[in-house]
Amino acid sequence: MRAKASDMHTKDCVKVAVRVRPFNKRERDAGSRCIISLVSTSISIQDPRDCHNRRSFCFDYAYWSHSGFTRDHTGLFVPEEPGGRYADQDSVFQDLGVGILENSLQGYNATLLAYGQTGSGKSYSMVGYGPNKGLVPKLCDRLFEAIRENQENRQCQVFFSMLEIYNEQVVDLLFRGSRTAGGLRVREEQQRGFYVEGLRKIPCENALQVEQLMEQGTRTRTTAATQMNANSSRSHMLIILQLKQIFSKESITKQSNINLVDLAGSERQRSSGSEADRLKEGTAINLSLTTLGNVISALADVAVGKKVVHIPYRDSVLTKLLQSALGGNSRTVMIATLSPADICYEESLSTLRYAERAKRIQNRAVVNESPTERLVKELKAENARLMQKLSRMDQEGRRASDESKELRQLLTQNELQIRAIQTLWEQNLQEALKDWEQQYASITQERRMMQMYPYILNINEDAQLSGVVKLFIQEGDWVIGLCDSSPRSISIKGLGIQERHAVFRNEQRRVTLTPVMGSKVIVNGNTVYETIELQHL
Ligand code: ADP
Ligand code: MG
Repeated sequence: MRAKASDMHTKDCVKVAVRVRPFNKRERDAGSRCIISLVSTSISIQDPRDCHNRRSFCFDYAYWSHSGFTRDHTGLFVPEEPGGRYADQDSVFQDLGVGILENSLQGYNATLLAYGQTGSGKSYSMVGYGPNKGLVPKLCDRLFEAIRENQENRQCQVFFSMLEIYNEQVVDLLFRGSRTAGGLRVREEQQRGFYVEGLRKIPCENALQVEQLMEQGTRTRTTAATQMNANSSRSHMLIILQLKQIFSKESITKQSNINLVDLAGSERQRSSGSEADRLKEGTAINLSLTTLGNVISALADVAVGKKVVHIPYRDSVLTKLLQSALGGNSRTVMIATLSPADICYEESLSTLRYAERAKRIQNRAVVNESPTERLVKELKAENARLMQKLSRMDQEGRRASDESKELRQLLTQNELQIRAIQTLWEQNLQEALKDWEQQYASITQERRMMQMYPYILNINEDAQLSGVVKLFIQEGDWVIGLCDSSPRSISIKGLGIQERHAVFRNEQRRVTLTPVMGSKVIVNGNTVYETIELQHL
């Protein structure tokens, strides 16, 4: 990929947005006070213990999603009155998503990071819940729309990858096998920079397919978190969309990577000062998030002209993968999400400070275009000429001459170059397709089963991972518990779960539940000791 000379010197600052969510139930129950206020793009935060202490910050965008909204008949959160100040998912997308889409269609790399404490609304903004779709699904909708609109002038390919970084291990969320053996490796190549070796790239043709892939990825994440008893707020989720556009008339190929990153909860990133505390926290310190903070600080220093010798990209997996997003070839946006409540003052203030530093980072984004197709054509034409020349020399009986040897070498070199160009994007394609087809089959089967059988859903501390796993109760008796060997059992894991915990019986869609002696079973808040009939919902 070559950069256009004219783009070489433009600097792009990281764009930063902040968003304040509504109170959650816990905050309402605690009678929390809202300590955040917004005026246009400036935000201030009030110290709840000192009324004279108020700090203000200014960002590129500031979103008030705290109050002034209602839920419409489709379940969408919208402003109470037209033109109200409440910022819904659509208005966030208009500001942040559209820009990312346009950049990527122009051939720039683009990155979107969501930063904030657990429960502050990162996933709500990135992925969304139910009808309130977040930036990623909206971006995909519009991306495929844009591709359909301009089909006669260019050919497009979109590849989707989804991964998780947990405890510095990279897990491919679209490939179940990658969880074994310590995760995937991050490698470095001169041209490409850092990349995840063997990460599945699934070719996508429409937004629905992307949605299903995301569903699949979330499910893998949920099962992994449950099995390892891991806390999902400590993991980073990355979605990578690769867009390749071939403009046949101009013989130009443009390529863009869109990184969409739902970061781990920021509350664990600041390690408490003392070494003893740090040891106690153990793995709770998130190396990737700490390093991200250090990289951002260093880059912010560079931007204000301070002398910085070393930017610690290499210290963590996340910063390796985000190297070009931060201080490199990418147009980058960060959305920092905040709880409005007084009890979250410390965390919210630290989020604002973090965001302020990120605002100073300057990137140099370039259009990633290469005259690929033209190059291939030229190489092929040149080879045709070489062949002619060679056959002429053959006829003249100069087959073994030095000149002819040289020509042959040139010919082979060109062949290799052509092959390299052509296979670059086809890597792993077949394998990825086969894998996806298998997974797709399992999704369709699950949809069918949901209509045929009653099922139970998982719950998780993380709202994003709740209701993801479906366990079906088919006709007959089903033992639920740790047991996973017997064919008529539903296997679950968790503290206090017995080998055989309870028995479901499904007789013509009439479902009963019987606890096994000594196990704890609660239905609608009441402990049950004997067989009970279950009602829908
Ligand atoms: P995080 O990913 O930062 O841990 P979530 O995005 O899962 O947090 O948000 C926590 C809860 O708050 C979810 O139930 C979500 O629906 C709700 N929430 C977050 N942001 C908003 C918002 N802007 N409007 C309405 N509800 C929100
Ligand atoms: Mg989340």
